Amino acid sequence: MAIPQPNYDYDIDRLVRAYKDAVQAIYHELDRIDLANISRANSAAALIEVTKILASLNEESAAWVAENIPKAVRDGVLAALVSLDVKDAENVVKFNRINKELVEAVVADTQADLLAVTKNVERRVRTAVRQVTAESMRANLTKGINGRKTINADILTGLKKKLGDSVNTGIVDAAGRRWKPETYVDMVVRTKTAEARRESAINEAISRRAYYGVISRHGATDACAKWEGKIVKLVREAPGDYPFIGEISRRELFHPHCKHLVTPLRDPKLMAE
Ligand SMILES: [Zn+2]
Repeated sequence: MAIPQPNYDYDIDRLVRAYKDAVQAIYHELDRIDLANISRANSAAALIEVTKILASLNEESAAWVAENIPKAVRDGVLAALVSLDVKDAENVVKFNRINKELVEAVVADTQADLLAVTKNVERRVRTAVRQVTAESMRANLTKGINGRKTINADILTGLKKKLGDSVNTGIVDAAGRRWKPETYVDMVVRTKTAEARRESAINEAISRRAYYGVISRHGATDACAKWEGKIVKLVREAPGDYPFIGEISRRELFHPHCKHLVTPLRDPKLMAE
């Protein structure tokens, strides 16, 4: 049996689509606010709708994570079994203790990252709506001063932009980069499913006393390129002059979006020949 090369694009696209749709639905809600004649009741009603949209998105993504992370772990275990020539690999797959813990940890991590996105969108939208409501009310109070009967168009455009911008930033990361919600979610789930698959393969390999691995090749041109086809140790204590996988910098290998895998290996000498 060839080592399975599962592709998560379809499932990931489905989740990313849910975030895009939610962002669109929020835009739509904010767009319905009559900025020229805003009232507190108006903006409160819009915020209730925004909260509903995000709550249903949270539910959808929790279900996605609960389904797809265990799937990725299973794929990793299966890939390890196949590469170690275990007979009837498809039917032998089960999660050992450490992989059960891995599932729990990655599920919790991914949930937390995704929840941070919706929390942040909600907070930003709430703040923007509050500010815009106050500004619009002030503008309405003063519109008679210059003999104007309506709020000036520049103010309206500014208010509209403020509302729109609040939806567009899903998260600001540690490096200060601003991410659109859907772009950030795509990065998070790609990174987490890859990590789940890789770590579970390593756990399975070690539990079967295979202490080495080889890094996959797909002709990468980024920092990972120099690791393609290289043998690594899966445990620090394994004999031989190979780099320990746990010490390779994430900037060089297994960075976000990285597609590299590690295929377990029992005897690195066989590989070298
Ligand atoms: Zn890579």
